[in-house]
Amino acid sequence: MEKRPKCKICRRAGKKLFLKGEKCNTAKCPMVVKPYPPGIKGKRRLGGLSEYGRQLKEKQRLKNWYNLSEKQFKNYVIAVLEKSRGGKSQMGDAQEALVKSLEMRLDNAIYRLGIGSSRTKSRQLVSHGHFFVNGKAIDIPSFTLKVGDKITVRPSSLNKGNFKELSATLKKIQLPLWLKLDPEKIEAEVIGYPTVDIAAPPAEIQAIFEFYSK
Ligand code: SF4
Repeated sequence: MEKRPKCKICRRAGKKLFLKGEKCNTAKCPMVVKPYPPGIKGKRRLGGLSEYGRQLKEKQRLKNWYNLSEKQFKNYVIAVLEKSRGGKSQMGDAQEALVKSLEMRLDNAIYRLGIGSSRTKSRQLVSHGHFFVNGKAIDIPSFTLKVGDKITVRPSSLNKGNFKELSATLKKIQLPLWLKLDPEKIEAEVIGYPTVDIAAPPAEIQAIFEFYSK
């Protein structure tokens, strides 16, 4: 994840990447107020990009959306590309595979469930050891979930700040089809696989494959 202020990452990407939690859905979002790249010359930098520039921009969008470092993100993409080269899978399958591997990270699931207001916050909650998967404590944000996995909150965490008043908020969350949640108990289950359509990534994935295929 880039270290620069989060809203500047969105403005540079030219898309809302939802990096700041509640503020992202308000009229104060800088992508609403200043929807052009940061810097004095930002308004003038809206012109055409080279093919490399376009691929780089798509890559940055998805990497930052999932709150990953360059190394982490590249590993996901290369793993999918290598698998697709070895088999007969179509590029569409590779796009689905990439989104599936990114979406099924534990930190992303915590965000999708509405337990963390952003992916950054969700990663922090996982790292601090607040969750169990199938009854076992997991504090690894990149932990890959599978269908049937049950996510619960550590009992001693349930009465703490982050979780105490959460049930009412969780009842309003529109869950993706691959997750089920009991908002009262804050217990979730993975009931399917995420798809590109459901995840609605803010980037053109084909361009990302081309970026890493050079
Ligand atoms: Fe900032 Fe969120 Fe708006 Fe992005 S979407 S510019 S992180 S408030």
